[in-house]
Amino acid sequence: MPELFIGGQWTAAADGQVREIRCPADGTLVATVDEGGPKDAAAAVSAARTAFDDGSWPRTPAAERGRLVLRVAELLERDRDVLAKAESLDTGKRLVESGYDMDDIANCFRHFGNLGAAGGTDRVVDAGAAEIASTVCHEPVGVCALITPWNYPLLQTAWKVAPCLVAGNTFVLKPSELTPHTAVHLMRLLAEAGLPDGAANLVLGTGPAVGALLTEDPRVDMVSFTGGLLTGRRIMAAAAPTVKKIALELGGKNPNIVFADADFDTAVDYALMAVFLHSGQVCSAGARLLVQEELHDAFVDELVSRAQRIRLGGPFDEHARTGPLISAAHRAKVEAYVAAGLEEGAVLLCGGSPPDDPSLSNGFYYLPTVLDECTPDMSVVRDESFGPVLTVERFRDEDEAVSLANDTVYGLAGAVWTQDSERAHRVAARLRAGTVWINDFHPYVPQAEWGGMKQSGVGRELGPAGLAEYQEAKHVWRNTAPRPQRWFE
Ligand code: NDP
Repeated sequence: MPELFIGGQWTAAADGQVREIRCPADGTLVATVDEGGPKDAAAAVSAARTAFDDGSWPRTPAAERGRLVLRVAELLERDRDVLAKAESLDTGKRLVESGYDMDDIANCFRHFGNLGAAGGTDRVVDAGAAEIASTVCHEPVGVCALITPWNYPLLQTAWKVAPCLVAGNTFVLKPSELTPHTAVHLMRLLAEAGLPDGAANLVLGTGPAVGALLTEDPRVDMVSFTGGLLTGRRIMAAAAPTVKKIALELGGKNPNIVFADADFDTAVDYALMAVFLHSGQVCSAGARLLVQEELHDAFVDELVSRAQRIRLGGPFDEHARTGPLISAAHRAKVEAYVAAGLEEGAVLLCGGSPPDDPSLSNGFYYLPTVLDECTPDMSVVRDESFGPVLTVERFRDEDEAVSLANDTVYGLAGAVWTQDSERAHRVAARLRAGTVWINDFHPYVPQAEWGGMKQSGVGRELGPAGLAEYQEAKHVWRNTAPRPQRWFE
């Protein structure tokens, strides 16, 4: 069956292009999929535009839209294992982690479905005069282009698709060219749940060939993008001439601050998980360890000894703790950051190369890497390597910890480890980041907003605000007793 989904029809790419999808863990061929281009992007926008302007979905009551999204949550649960396997083959991620992702995805659909099912969000405003009936209601933005990355392919898609639909929009989804399979499956589930034709459209293809077209097309009202900072800047610029609404979830260079009074064993454990989970290909990865001077030596010794025990392996290796990087090109980028760090004076404590295990030689693995004696000016500290690379800096006191933590263009997430709860909250309040964990790392719930300050993004996903992103507020003012004013006299 062809893999593009346009106007309710499964279709091949207009110019017949296909792409091989290979598992990054061992290079095996997963499948060959249709690869769309500009013509397919334009056709999908036409379908979404017609479905928005003339179709039933935007005019379906919010409660009914919510119930359909709740039905999708059930279908996602039914197909959990199939979806998890597909995600693992595309990304190389451990199967157990993909399973957790699928649970989160169903929960995300449930969260937004419930917000919709609760009914409309109209608000009566007291205009200060008895004859005025003033109401603010929330309407869909229109046609949305949803552009997603390869690290959490269906999860990032769910954060957009579920609120986008609950709000009554229609959309064109463009997933990463490297990881298309779960997006294809989601389209089947949306159709099965009864979504009208044209409300959801899928075009596989590259960023330049498909994504750029979607961001420029004047018939698109909003672009919601998750991906890298440079692409985010490009999208912002491309959306400017037609003044599209934009929502951007970009990268992070997230600080993990450990004070000397932290619970040592737990803080070491979480510092490892914070950065090496999914081989660091996580936007909220705790890639910058800031450790208080007096704790530094003991903490880093223990961290390195545990990092060297992390087992790498493919998605179906039950003993593996983390997997490969997504591609050869991405591994080369990570290697370049480590090399630059060493040249700039960082000290390599472990890792710093692909593993020499011959059973991993066909995958894009890279050893968990710890760089000590790092300083804020190093590129490996400033830029997002998006790999299993931890940089270590020392701080003397609270002020210096906060100042180092905030010394970044990013502001996605951060953590603070201390047993002093007053200090924990003081530091949390001073961190310029969209999420702060105290004595924890990485958890999130769909009820709470997610997103970045500074150059980590624009807008928020999840929470109630994640739905509001896909809505336009409209104020309707009704004068129930209009009379001539004679204002010209
Ligand atoms: P990219 O920015 O390279 O790509 C993201 C998506 O944008 C892909 O679908 C890509 O297509 C597409 N794209 C590329 N160029 C354009 C363009 N000119 N116009 C429109 N679309 C385009 O990011 P990655 O896929 O490499 O993902 C990793 C990045 O995502 C990291 O920086 C990470 O921090 C960030 N991220 C942020 C999250 C957050 O919540 N803040 C969550 C997850 C990831 P294709 O790749 O198919 O060419």
